[in-house]
Amino acid sequence: MTYFKRHILSGFLLFLGAICLSLLSGVQFLKMHKKESIYPSEELSSIKMLSTYFPGLKDTPGDTDVYVFQGQEEGGHLLILGGTHPNEPAGFITAVLLVENINVQRGKVIIVPRANNSGFTHNDPQEASPQSFGLGTSNGPRVFRYGSRLTNPIHQWPDPALYLNPSGQKLSGTEIRNLNRCYPGKEKGYLTEKIAFGIIELIKKENIHLGLDLHEAAPEYPVINAIVFHENSAELAALAQMELQLEGYDLRLEASPSNLRGLSHREWGDTAGIQAILLETANASHGRLKGETSPSLIVEGKDKNYARASKLGLLFVPYAEEGIALRVRVARHLASIRALLKSLAELSPEKSLDIDFLPLPSEVERSGLGAFLKPPKGS
Ligand SMILES: [Zn+2]
Repeated sequence: MTYFKRHILSGFLLFLGAICLSLLSGVQFLKMHKKESIYPSEELSSIKMLSTYFPGLKDTPGDTDVYVFQGQEEGGHLLILGGTHPNEPAGFITAVLLVENINVQRGKVIIVPRANNSGFTHNDPQEASPQSFGLGTSNGPRVFRYGSRLTNPIHQWPDPALYLNPSGQKLSGTEIRNLNRCYPGKEKGYLTEKIAFGIIELIKKENIHLGLDLHEAAPEYPVINAIVFHENSAELAALAQMELQLEGYDLRLEASPSNLRGLSHREWGDTAGIQAILLETANASHGRLKGETSPSLIVEGKDKNYARASKLGLLFVPYAEEGIALRVRVARHLASIRALLKSLAELSPEKSLDIDFLPLPSEVERSGLGAFLKPPKGS
């Protein structure tokens, strides 16, 4: 073979390699836009889309599934949001567990597991986060997306240098893609503002009484293992905190600052007039002190850096060598939901709810999340 022919051949092989790599990464990229299946409880009344409440979201990456459980008896109307921040898996998985298990006898429960649907389609840059994590069930593993705190820039770009949100709060530019800074949203705003507007429309049209926004925070963040409450829900939050203490859960109470605008626990109360609570648990996988971000860190929550930081007194939660597993964080959210429902029934009996098959926190901790998730279809 002549020198010239060898040159042509090696160039061709390099070109072929580049095409293969592009195809592989393209497949990976497109997979990130595919949502995982959720298998609702047989008692589910209907699945709607957020665009049912706000048509401006139709055919956009911000549209998302809304699961409606309508009880036989009249009672309170409860909204539960998971996935406001898709890198906080305890909020998302708690919502999935509820959708797959509950039966509402009295009242109405509406659950949105992927509140920021766009945020589930990418990861935060430079964090080397996994795209997904697996949870074992009785008949094979289920895989769930691990996303970003923010809306995908493919769906909303560019960010301004400074974001003046719909309630007049000045924030850094990237917060324009943070659903929990965009309330009460804007009908003709950016995609994330439209999602926030859609959620406010849902609250109004479904006549919601109480809204719960499920989150997680880094263990070094001061607002953690917390119930953040709008002032219209102070009594409800305080009573729930006492209930939780009796059951061995230590949660701190944090009042929603009236001058920090754009957050669910502020604007759901101010704009939509409902009782509003945000719940936080401790998640090492999006903290700054973590080691490698892996599916195991997300699910098992073991991280030697956090265990060391805890010994040095640098954290706001106890963090032992065995870590804080996802099932423990989900159990904490479930315990808070139970305590809030019990307190709501005491304070406002006309708004009480009666929900069967609400997973017991102690059972979730003991048997694991897989015991409450349906096996994947086709397994
Ligand atoms: Zn969050």
